[in-house]
Amino acid sequence: MSCGEVLPQYEEASLEVTHETDYLEIGTDFENPVCAGNLKLMDEQVEFVAQVLEHELNGPFSVSWYEWYTDIEACSESAMACTKNNGNVYTNWDSMAHELVHAVANEVNPDAPPVFAEGLAVMLEGVTLGTPFALSEVIAHENVSSVDYEGLGHFTRWLIDTYGIDAYLTAYEAAEWSDDIASSQNEAFRLAYGKEWSELVAEHKRDAPDYFRGLGPFEICATDDVLPWNGERWEHTITVDCASDSTIARLGNLNQPEMWRRVAIEIPETGRYRFEFNSEYSAVAAQINACMSSDSAMEGDLPLLDDWTVDTVWGEKRRFGLFQWVGWPANLGPFMPGHAAIGVWFEPGKYIIWVGAKGVDPADISVSIWPEP
Ligand SMILES: [Zn+2]
Repeated sequence: MSCGEVLPQYEEASLEVTHETDYLEIGTDFENPVCAGNLKLMDEQVEFVAQVLEHELNGPFSVSWYEWYTDIEACSESAMACTKNNGNVYTNWDSMAHELVHAVANEVNPDAPPVFAEGLAVMLEGVTLGTPFALSEVIAHENVSSVDYEGLGHFTRWLIDTYGIDAYLTAYEAAEWSDDIASSQNEAFRLAYGKEWSELVAEHKRDAPDYFRGLGPFEICATDDVLPWNGERWEHTITVDCASDSTIARLGNLNQPEMWRRVAIEIPETGRYRFEFNSEYSAVAAQINACMSSDSAMEGDLPLLDDWTVDTVWGEKRRFGLFQWVGWPANLGPFMPGHAAIGVWFEPGKYIIWVGAKGVDPADISVSIWPEP
């Protein structure tokens, strides 16, 4: 998932640069193509983080992108990915959004301890943040791998929503690693909020909503592409094409890379709908995800999707963001041989239809949805 850590700097070779973007110098250790959509998302993520932090970028950042996290020797054994103090990133795709937050935030404070560095990275990696647990124990952790990442992300989001970005940046900039990490973190909270960490944690526990919608370009519903309505149906032939900046490749833990595109629909009325997809290719798939309709929600506000016959990520209702879904990739399948038609119960709201192809590029997949009479 999104684990990662910030380590003190030491010499570590980055992969040879194969792709350059506005903000990134990227090297890959795999043969499979990097799709235009991946590169666009990565640049958007860098811009987004800089904007949140009110930070002018120095960059460019070095990104060593591995197909398998197990091949990343630059990181310690407990980390699936990492970002060095100098901003150099070593990651696979699944942790990309998270590590890019570290890269940018390191320009603000390369010395930020986990409560700050990981809280910010999780908050901005795009996943929906669920109710945290055991948060109060986090303060004393120097072992990053045991930090409650999701809890920190949720706490950080609540903290900024409640007290504003300026106070948070004050704390972030002031916090530093030290031999007594618990008290140096606490000092930063006192400086910015006039409160102890324990007071803030108690407020968070009392006041925070159960869920926050993910933020930024990696949020699962963050797309402007919509499935057009033709008067009777939402219908379109969607081309999954690695050369297009709306197509994203997913790599790692797969026999073949998968290419994915997403389009949005807005369902106006509760009811039963027909969902179909067709393609001449044998390895295509589609998936529907419900979007959170508000910035935050309580458990009871979430849509009930128990009757769904297609895969959804709401099954777990916790961490989902772009390609960081719970249970991935089991949730995603199956790759159907070319055609599927199913009935789906929709409540009003925004949904994202994902279509994917494996081993063929480009691929045309026609998608239609209509209300059942
Ligand atoms: Zn991290």
